[in-house]
Amino acid sequence: MANRVPVIAGNWKMNTDVESGLKLASDILRLTNDVSGVEKIVCPPFISITRIAEELSGSSIQVGAQNVSSSANGALTGEISATMLQGQVSHVIVGHSERRAQNNETSEQISLKAIAVAEARMTPILCTGEDLAIRQAGKASSFVSEQLEANLAGFTEWDSLIVAYEPVWAIGTGEAATSDQAQEMTAVCREVIRKLAPHAADSIRVLYGGSVNSGNVGELLSQPDIDGALVGGASLKADEFSKLIVAASSG
Ligand code: PEP
Repeated sequence: MANRVPVIAGNWKMNTDVESGLKLASDILRLTNDVSGVEKIVCPPFISITRIAEELSGSSIQVGAQNVSSSANGALTGEISATMLQGQVSHVIVGHSERRAQNNETSEQISLKAIAVAEARMTPILCTGEDLAIRQAGKASSFVSEQLEANLAGFTEWDSLIVAYEPVWAIGTGEAATSDQAQEMTAVCREVIRKLAPHAADSIRVLYGGSVNSGNVGELLSQPDIDGALVGGASLKADEFSKLIVAASSG
C-alpha cells in the first residue's frame, strides 16, 4: 500500500433515519475512535448529515455526502450544491454506479461534480467500475480506463481526490472481486491517474468497493494498489464496519 494512509468509507445509501443514523454513528465512534492509522468516513443520507456531523465533531470520524449537484445554484428542485455541503462534510461520493444507472448520470455530469466538490475544498470519492457483461467480454480494463479518464476531464485538484474501483457485479451481491481482480483493476485506475497527473499517482488513494466484509477485507487490503474500501451493506452494522477499520489500521 506504499505510504498511503488507508481509507474505510461507509456509504449508507438510502438507509437509516435521523435517530438510527445518530445511533449508528455513535456506535462506530465508540468502537473505533481510538483506532489510528486509518481514515474513517461515514456517508449518511442528506437529511442526517448536520446532526451526525455535530455528533462526530472533533472525533476521528469524518462525514461525507453520497451525491452533489453539478451546478452551483438555481431552479433545480431537490438538488444540493457543493457550496451547501461545505463545512458540513469533508468528502462527497461522485459517480456511484447506482446513480449512473438509476439517475442516468453521464460522464460529463460526473466530471463536473468532481470539479465542483474539489473547488469547494472537499474531496471527491470518484467511483468507477464495469458491469458483468463488460467483464465477461474481457473489456474491464479498457472500460474502466476510459470511464475514469472521462470522469476526470478538467479535474485539477490532484491533492484532493480518492478513486474507488467498484465493479457493478460485486456491489450488494455478496460476491466480491477476488483480490487479484481488485488489484489488477485498482492498478489500472492508478495508471490512468499517472497519465493525467504523474506527480499524484503514488499519493492518491484508490479504494476497492463491492461486498467487502470482515472476512475478505484483509486479503483485499494486502494488495499493493488497494488503499482501503468503500463499503455499502457492511457499513450499516457498527461492529462489522468497525472490524474493517481495525483491519485497515493494522494492515
Ligand atoms: C457500494 O454500494 O458502494 C458498495 C460497495 O456496496 P456493498 O458493500 O454493499 O457491495
